Amino acid sequence: MNDHQLLRYSRHILLDDLGIEGQERILAGHAVVIGAGGLGSPAALYLASAGVGRITLVDGDEVDFTNLQRQILHTQARVGMAKVASGRVALGEINPDIEVLARHERLGGEALDALIATADVVLDCCDNFSTRHAVNRACVHHRKALVSGAAIRFDGQISVYDMARDDSPCYHCLFPETEDVEEVRCAVMGVFAPLTGIIGTMQAAEALKLLAGIGESLAGRLLLLDTLEMEWRSVRFKKDPACAVCGPTPVGQAPGYLPRPAAHPAESGAVCRPDLSGRQG
Ligand SMILES: [Zn+2]
Repeated sequence: MNDHQLLRYSRHILLDDLGIEGQERILAGHAVVIGAGGLGSPAALYLASAGVGRITLVDGDEVDFTNLQRQILHTQARVGMAKVASGRVALGEINPDIEVLARHERLGGEALDALIATADVVLDCCDNFSTRHAVNRACVHHRKALVSGAAIRFDGQISVYDMARDDSPCYHCLFPETEDVEEVRCAVMGVFAPLTGIIGTMQAAEALKLLAGIGESLAGRLLLLDTLEMEWRSVRFKKDPACAVCGPTPVGQAPGYLPRPAAHPAESGAVCRPDLSGRQG
C-alpha cells in the first residue's frame, strides 16, 4: 500500500482483526455483483469505498425513474443510462483507485460461468429465481463464496453459501429450483426503501469479511428481517445430502452442469418472501 492508500483505509487498518493484512486482501480481491438495483447499490458502494480492488457490476437494465426511491447508486440525471454505467460513475466518484467493470447484460450460461470463475466473492443482488439458481450453480462449480440477499415489501433475508467449504449448503439446498415457483418481485409488490439498504449493506459486510478472511460468515444460517416489527430471526440449515446441485451426484461439479429438476419440488420457497416457518429445525 502507498501512503495515499494507508490514509484512505486507515480506519480499517486500525481494526485489530482486519489490519494491514486484511486490507491488502481486500485490495487484491475481485467481487462480482449480480444486479445493480436496490441491494446491489449499497453493496457496491461499500465494496468500493472499502477498497475492493476489482468490482464487476452485472445488470441488463437501464435506470428507471421508479428505481430512485431505493437504488442509491443512481441519480435522476442518469435515468435512461445503463445501470452498470451509472453505477460505475457513482463508484468512481467515491474511489477512483479501484477497477470497476460494467457488464450491461443479463449474464447466463458460459459467460456467467467464465465470470464467476474469476471472482473471489459473488454477491447475488438480483430479483429473479432463474438468475439466482444459475449463479448458485456456477458458484458450486467453481467453489466460490456466494452472498445472497433478498428484499420485498417489508421483509428481507440474507445468507452466505460458502462453497469453498465442504460442509456448506448451497442456495439450492435451501430453495430447490422448481418449474412453478412463485416469483414475487419488487416491481409488482413494492419494497420499503431502507430495507434494501440494510440487506445490501450486510451483503457488503459479509463479502468484505470473506475477502479479508476474518470473523464467522453466515454460512449455514439464514437471517430474516421484518422491518415493520424490526425483528430479526436466525434459521440454521444444513447441506441437503440429496441436493441436485451440490449433492453426491452433483450437476454443479460436472462439466455439463446446467439445470435438472429439484429433488424436493414441494419444498420450494419464494426468494422474496422469507416464510420458512415449515423449515425450521
Ligand atoms: Zn446444495
